[in-house]
Amino acid sequence: MFDPKAIRKDFPILARTVHGKPLVYLDNAATSQKPRQVIQTLVECYEMYNSNVHRGVHTLSMEATERYETARQKAADFIKSPAPEGVIFVRNTTEAINLVASAWATDNVGRGDEIVVSEMEHHSNLVPWQKVAAQKGAHLKLLPATDDGVIDVTALDTVITPRTKLVSVVHVSNVTGAVNPVKEIGRRAHQVGALFMLDGAQSVPHMPVDVQDLDCDFLAFSGHKMMAPPGIGVLYARLSVLEKMEPFLRGGEMVREVWYDHATWNDLPNKFEAGTPNFTDAVALGAAIDYLNALGMDAVRQHEVELGAYALKAFAQLEEVDVLGPKDARQRAGLVTFTAGDIHPHDLGTFLDHEGIAIRTGHHCVMPYHRKLGLVATGRASFYVYNTNDEVDLLVQSLKNALAYFAHAS
Ligand code: PLP
Repeated sequence: MFDPKAIRKDFPILARTVHGKPLVYLDNAATSQKPRQVIQTLVECYEMYNSNVHRGVHTLSMEATERYETARQKAADFIKSPAPEGVIFVRNTTEAINLVASAWATDNVGRGDEIVVSEMEHHSNLVPWQKVAAQKGAHLKLLPATDDGVIDVTALDTVITPRTKLVSVVHVSNVTGAVNPVKEIGRRAHQVGALFMLDGAQSVPHMPVDVQDLDCDFLAFSGHKMMAPPGIGVLYARLSVLEKMEPFLRGGEMVREVWYDHATWNDLPNKFEAGTPNFTDAVALGAAIDYLNALGMDAVRQHEVELGAYALKAFAQLEEVDVLGPKDARQRAGLVTFTAGDIHPHDLGTFLDHEGIAIRTGHHCVMPYHRKLGLVATGRASFYVYNTNDEVDLLVQSLKNALAYFAHAS
């Protein structure tokens, strides 16, 4: 049985207090907490076999290499990549998208071509494409969002055209929480011969994601949002696409042979992993994947849908609170972005912090979409496997307290 109260015991940080109150950690969309199993894996790495991978013939190096490549296989299996070579270890989602914007777009986007993203993209899936468009004389186009904060599929045929070379959209919005209709978007992209990329930063940690079923060419995600350390992430890419791409960074490990005036490239995935990789954190990502697999991703998703539904219902009781995104909890991830009357979200965040409650406030790196909605900032509570209905109750009670406090103060 899925038991968040039992799961909590694996996360040492959840036992701490903040301002004398038990920590209620509701900022999981920014980064997740780490279970003892992941922390222990890191300790074991440094205490037992720390050594450079792929380079040594000595025992430690071979052990480290074996664990690093096992982690790659685990990541591949987790997203149903047909081959481990389709998994490139990078620092995070941002680097994965930049890799594609640099290594793929350089040779595949030209003057007058189109790159399509959506209105609700995180800056990580917008700013790199602004540069490509400016450098290449290409057009950056936007898929609109519905009033419910979901990518509007009725616009697919007009926005995505035969000039479109790439469609890159967020799978789950970190602002509206919407689970976007990405299969339909991908179908339209492929219909016009474009490649299809998914920003999976908020989906891969929280629900089953199958790259074959979604039929995406690229998928980017970050380890730190799924119980692994920061500094490790994944770019999944279809092998036939990766094989034709030039390297991203150049240097050691990504080469086969080097002369003074030229070099040839290593096989996949090494061709895209120049220099010493972050193998310890990759191994810890493998441990995080083991942990999530033991819970079962269907159960993780179910828990978050239920918690989201519980939170939406409770928020609906608060007159001054407006929630962004779809009304139906099954169409969204376990995160709730909201405004609370006239209270500035930063004031609200500080108030809640004094109650021991950590939420995110600001524009969540999605400034243009906030601007479009006429908002400067919002508050966001985001859940994970260890969050409970009791914590949602505490949040709602503290919100009520804040609304009363600030009504008094003004
Ligand atoms: N995309 C989305 C939807 C996100 O929520 C985030 C992080 O908040 C990112 C991209 C960027 O992730 P990272 O900072 O790990 O690169």
